[in-house]
Amino acid sequence: MTGIDDLPVRDELRGKTPYGAPQLDVPVRLNTNENPYPLPEPLVERIAERVREAARGLNRYPDRDAVELRTELAAYLTKTGKHPVGTENVWAANGSNEVIQQLLQTFGGPGRSAIGFEPSYSMHGLIARGTGTAWISGPRNEDFTLDLAAAERAIAEHRPDVVFVTTPNNPTGNAVPPETVLALYEAAQAAKPSMVVVDEAYVEFSHGDSLLPLLEGRPNLVVSRTMSKAFGAAGLRLGYLAADPAVVDAVQLVRLPYHLSAVTQATALAALEHTDTLLGYVEQLKAERDRLVTELRAMGCEVTESDANFVQFGRFADTHAAWRKILDQGVLVRDNGVPGWLRVSAGTPKENDAFLDAVRELMGTAG
Ligand code: PMP
Repeated sequence: MTGIDDLPVRDELRGKTPYGAPQLDVPVRLNTNENPYPLPEPLVERIAERVREAARGLNRYPDRDAVELRTELAAYLTKTGKHPVGTENVWAANGSNEVIQQLLQTFGGPGRSAIGFEPSYSMHGLIARGTGTAWISGPRNEDFTLDLAAAERAIAEHRPDVVFVTTPNNPTGNAVPPETVLALYEAAQAAKPSMVVVDEAYVEFSHGDSLLPLLEGRPNLVVSRTMSKAFGAAGLRLGYLAADPAVVDAVQLVRLPYHLSAVTQATALAALEHTDTLLGYVEQLKAERDRLVTELRAMGCEVTESDANFVQFGRFADTHAAWRKILDQGVLVRDNGVPGWLRVSAGTPKENDAFLDAVRELMGTAG
């Protein structure tokens, strides 16, 4: 049988495996930081209406610049981000993964490099590889906070073209203070200058504010966002960025024409009409996240501070065995390869109860 390595694939792809969490059919799935609440019925109806309308025009290519959608995303950011954002500051794509890919195609590429501070979102490194950008793994402190002095040293040494800062960070959950992001921006400008991409996929769940106000006067800063988490629309595939209009112009050089289908644009617009309802679920999830932290600690687990819709907990001598034991009780959590630690996404109260029971059993503290 022919295998991948029998094909003339690029050298850097040889022997590699594709990214992806297991999609197992178990009763409680808390492994991919999805929102556990299905979209409310009135929104489902509105999506059907808007998609029906869009279907009548499917013989034509969609709005290539997605202007109406970008305008509504800008309005959402302005309303929630304590910083005025205009249509010209926003760009949208199929998930923030595609946004990140377009950024790396624009600012990275062969002969260039990108840095992230790990453990962090592993797709940053994988998309770097896919775009021919060299990947530099920067350090973190023992408690998973960002080690600013070490990060500054790494930036000065490697002079990367793109710097990723994920806040709140995945899989650890902790947020990066604005002063630290500012210091990294300064270090990155002094070294190269380079683009700093702040990945705020989980910011709606944070105790603190978005870093959008830092965009003011910083054309090499980009804030990346998604509708996959807070909006409960992971299946929609809609990510977006906010930045200086020049950045939006620059990514046009690499985007595929008509990359965002008319159906996607119509669905995202319908979801944005229901922002208030959807963000109501965020409050419930934040409360459940806090409950997970408290109860896991009460069981004797170590828990990393979380500003996201998930919690990193440990420590386990045999991480895989712990993951397996929780799975045996019908609960799927995530082993991100951080030795000793697992990650659980906040689900519905009932799902979280099932998870907590499974960990209680594992820790031998079940009553
Ligand atoms: N950034 C971070 C930090 C993430 O955790 C994820 C999803 N797991 C993404 C980006 C990508 O999300 P999407 O492509 O669904 O917008």
